[in-house]
Amino acid sequence: MRIDLHTHSNASDGTDSPAELVRNAAAAGLDVVALTDHDSVTGYAEAVQALPSGLTLVTGAELSCHVEGISMHMLAYLFDPEHPEFTRERDLVRTDRFRRAEAMVERCRALGAPITWDQVQRIAGDGAVGRPHVASALVEAGVVPSVDAAFTKDWVANGGRADVRKREFDPFEAVRLVRAAGGVTVFAHPGAHKRGRTVSDQVIADLAAAGLGGVEVDHADHDGPTRERLRGLAADLGLLATGSSDYHGDRKAIRLGAETTAPEVYQALVAQATGAEPVTV
Ligand code: AMP
Ligand code: FE
Ligand code: FE
Ligand code: ZN
Repeated sequence: MRIDLHTHSNASDGTDSPAELVRNAAAAGLDVVALTDHDSVTGYAEAVQALPSGLTLVTGAELSCHVEGISMHMLAYLFDPEHPEFTRERDLVRTDRFRRAEAMVERCRALGAPITWDQVQRIAGDGAVGRPHVASALVEAGVVPSVDAAFTKDWVANGGRADVRKREFDPFEAVRLVRAAGGVTVFAHPGAHKRGRTVSDQVIADLAAAGLGGVEVDHADHDGPTRERLRGLAADLGLLATGSSDYHGDRKAIRLGAETTAPEVYQALVAQATGAEPVTV
């Protein structure tokens, strides 16, 4: 079984439509794929509709969070997408992305980059608009050679000249809301220090005590020693240890299935969820 539990479609900052994503997942030889768009569930219907036979779809989302001034991402799986309180909070976070992205465009223009809000909206389409879309606009305008090159302090990296904060979840509140909606949480790429400061092991222990289900251990942003440290921490805290590609289509180099989750870990995750079931046709 090949299981990839972290991917993005163009419902957030990936470049595949949800239908393309599930077709590409089947072509990549995956048995299970999770759709985890940033703060959004709007890709579910199309992904289910286009689901190839033999591929199982796990519905999910990746929630933007911060704690102690540090940005972090929380994967949420198999929750009820219509749970009222969670839906309300998710909508507030997703909607605030428009204000924030428009403010980022203004910052870029003030810094001499000739991009426009219309352009960023065209690039983002119906997706939850974010820094990768602003980065793509900077590439189009010839300001930087690649999306990666826009993620520096000069432009949109955490604390960069054109970075603007957005509304985000408190991760403890995220764990509580996802649980209330019958879902399971997994702390995404907790050791991805390239992206900015990372949270302490103590915070992970506190999240575990609050109901966190797992940590993403095998991720391209983690080197070998980081993976070993996180695997040990997960074992100590009784957390599931997942592995996933964090595929973003053409916006990032990583391919579907480049990192995977063990079948028994996947089964334990599904067993904890009551809000939704994996979809197979
Ligand atoms: P946002 O949610 O709008 O703040 O954008 C965060 C997204 O930017 C992440 O989900 C990644 O897709 C992308 N990202 C973050 N850091 C980097 C980086 N150093 N290089 C390339 N992409 C990044
Ligand atoms: Fe992303
Ligand atoms: Fe993430
Ligand atoms: Zn992600």
